Amino acid sequence: MVDSMLGRLARWLRALGYDTVYLRHARDVELLRIARQEGRVLLTRDTRLARTARAQGLLIQTEGLDAQLREVVAALGPSGGELLSRCLDCNTPLEARAREEVVGLVPAYTLETQSEFYGCPGCGKVFWPGSHADRILARLRPLVEDPPR
Ligand SMILES: [Zn+2]
Repeated sequence: MVDSMLGRLARWLRALGYDTVYLRHARDVELLRIARQEGRVLLTRDTRLARTARAQGLLIQTEGLDAQLREVVAALGPSGGELLSRCLDCNTPLEARAREEVVGLVPAYTLETQSEFYGCPGCGKVFWPGSHADRILARLRPLVEDPPR
């Protein structure tokens, strides 16, 4: 679970395969409650909040996305999930979709040129391998192939 300051990091952690809850407007007490109830680690840049969360808090000390991703992987270990297996927007595990199922949901050109599609049962978004996914994977692969400790 990430606090409201770490929304961008949340998307990238999902891309790495971590089950990541991000509630933009949640107050600290709410974050702490959900983290406890669901057995989640609370990632925060707020020293006081990390201290309150005690063993369940992880204080993010670095600046910049790549450094923060390394910090999280080093602290929590590999996600155990596949890269790009969760919806970046809502965290739901993605499911494979047949081309017929995504007609009208993706641009016509994409429908013609792509053969693999993934849908999110949570928010309905459709994803497909492409240059955007390639850029994400290129950034994340080093973290998986040679995980920081
Ligand atoms: Zn979704």
